[in-house]
Amino acid sequence: HAKAIGKNNYQFYSKVLNAEATERLDMENGLRRALARGEFELYYQPKVATRTGRILGAEALLRWNHPERGRVSPAQFIPLCEETGLIIPIGDWIIRTACLQTLDWNRQGYADLRIAVNLSPLQFRQPDLVIKVVETLENTGIDPAQLEFEVTESGAMEDMEKTIRTLNTFKEMGIHISIDDFGTGHSSLSYLKRFPVHTLKIDQSFIRNLSTSDKDAAIVCSIITLAHSLEFSVIAEGVETQEHLEFLGRQGCDEIQGYFFSPPVPSHDFTRLLQQGPMPLTT
Ligand code: C2E
Ligand code: MG
Ligand code: MG
Ligand code: MG
Repeated sequence: HAKAIGKNNYQFYSKVLNAEATERLDMENGLRRALARGEFELYYQPKVATRTGRILGAEALLRWNHPERGRVSPAQFIPLCEETGLIIPIGDWIIRTACLQTLDWNRQGYADLRIAVNLSPLQFRQPDLVIKVVETLENTGIDPAQLEFEVTESGAMEDMEKTIRTLNTFKEMGIHISIDDFGTGHSSLSYLKRFPVHTLKIDQSFIRNLSTSDKDAAIVCSIITLAHSLEFSVIAEGVETQEHLEFLGRQGCDEIQGYFFSPPVPSHDFTRLLQQGPMPLTT
């Protein structure tokens, strides 16, 4: 009897595993075709000056408009892009598209925006990343100061010496460097004095419970102080409420990103936000 149950369990689990493997393969094939079929789109979420409500720039966030599945979340497909190496061609497309969009906004008279692109660890480790970025900037003619890269602590820690060299090159070119999801990586703080960084981006997990958790509030305050002591600027992500905004304003957080102002939106909706002028600081 026990043996029969074991066998049934085995059959059950092997069915589940098969379904998972099929699903994965399906996604992978879909991803391979998505670029050529034009199924990717960049959404833009404003980065706002805390004191004035001015839109300083945006973070570009990848969206996959799947013909059958609808909009697939990056949390679901970015890891698969990394595992399969597809993040390299997709990442090239992201940088080029973000630069072309920046050029478009420049031509519409919004010429001092800074557009941030997320760089995944695999993308960051490409030997020819710098060359490709230089070419994209030259081909589009946008000022490197208008481009920002967001790298995660864990991503940046993988090969310290190489990371420092690459980041230094980007910094010398005038590109803005931010540490994304700051405070959640498994890394020592000592890298902060060696990395050429402009901005720390406080992870949204610390912002979420800002109003109810003294500990999260204390961590947020410490990150703001730390950033400013090192002469970095600091931005908070995941800012959803007036209370979040007011707290961060009182603590001197320079920039704000989150649903309080706007979710990530398609480029034409972002243009509309730009046309409206500064974002209202109260609801
Ligand atoms: P991330 O870079 O930390 O991006 C922030 C995420 O928080 C985005 O999710 C954004 O939509 C979401 N968010 C923004 N404001 C709020 C808010 O007020 N509340 C809440 N709850 N969430 C907010 P998204 O777009 O789903 O992206 C998730 C992650 O996927 C990103 O985290 C990033 O790690 C990765 N990702 C997205 N686009 C790209 C890309 O173009 N390239 C790479 N390499 N990774 C990307
Ligand atoms: Mg980011
Ligand atoms: Mg983040
Ligand atoms: Mg994140």
